[in-house]
Amino acid sequence: MERIYIGMGSNLAAPAEQLRNAVDALAQLPQTELVGVSAFYQSDSLLPGQPRYTNAVAVLDSSLAPLELLDALQAIENDQGRERNERWGPRTLDLDILLFGDRLIDEPRLKVPHYHMQARACPFIGLERLQPA
Ligand code: AMP
Repeated sequence: MERIYIGMGSNLAAPAEQLRNAVDALAQLPQTELVGVSAFYQSDSLLPGQPRYTNAVAVLDSSLAPLELLDALQAIENDQGRERNERWGPRTLDLDILLFGDRLIDEPRLKVPHYHMQARACPFIGLERLQPA
């Protein structure tokens, strides 16, 4: 088992519900235990004119391989990350692997630590953990 930190974000009209659904889906992943979830917090979109994001971090213990976990996260994004009222609306759920144990991963589909991580505030792991050493 390795400890994994998942960054979650949504700027749908009801983003907290998107994140709650994502947490439920993470809790059901095979070979995986949901350890905890941070408080939900708000951040500004990087694109002007977009609604603010609701973000959170989920902590997992899992024996899935990194690319297996990425596939599972992308399936959750596809299942739940679309506005149900709109046909094939924009993706409204973003799930990123921030940390995967102490691994450094540099593959075409997967870079860990996630390159956005240092820019994100997170009340659960604490800002000091997000700064470069
Ligand atoms: P985005 O649309 O910004 O969420 O980017 C999605 C793409 O980022 C996917 O095709 C992933 O293969 C890739 N990716 C690279 N590193 C990561 C990571 N640490 N977590 C999630 N996706 C990643």
